[in-house]
Amino acid sequence: MARLRCGTHELAIETGRWTPNVPDARKCFRCHEIDEDEKHVVCDCPVYAELRVAAHEQLRNTCRLAPTASLSFYHLVAPQIVMDKELAKLARPIGLQFVRAVLARRAALLKESSG
Ligand SMILES: [Zn+2]
Repeated sequence: MARLRCGTHELAIETGRWTPNVPDARKCFRCHEIDEDEKHVVCDCPVYAELRVAAHEQLRNTCRLAPTASLSFYHLVAPQIVMDKELAKLARPIGLQFVRAVLARRAALLKESSG
């Protein structure tokens, strides 16, 4: 998660910086038209939709949030920004688990598509 937060991760938005001659190098491998940045992966990319839904549900249950509470990028990646200290402490491992699951799925799909 620290890697995701400080941007030194393996997402295309970062790795694409080093291949400036490849116009699509920074795009999501599935969504093509969209840059693969942290926000896309955590909030929007359909590849991780059910991981996201499960993490949000776990977050709502664990932190006793209203079922209709809207959850942002920060709830999963930097909960201390949007939640009080005690809730953020409960939320952090859920976000960490989500990010790990996302990166594992991404790595598996990339491996699948390259081999
Ligand atoms: Zn995508």
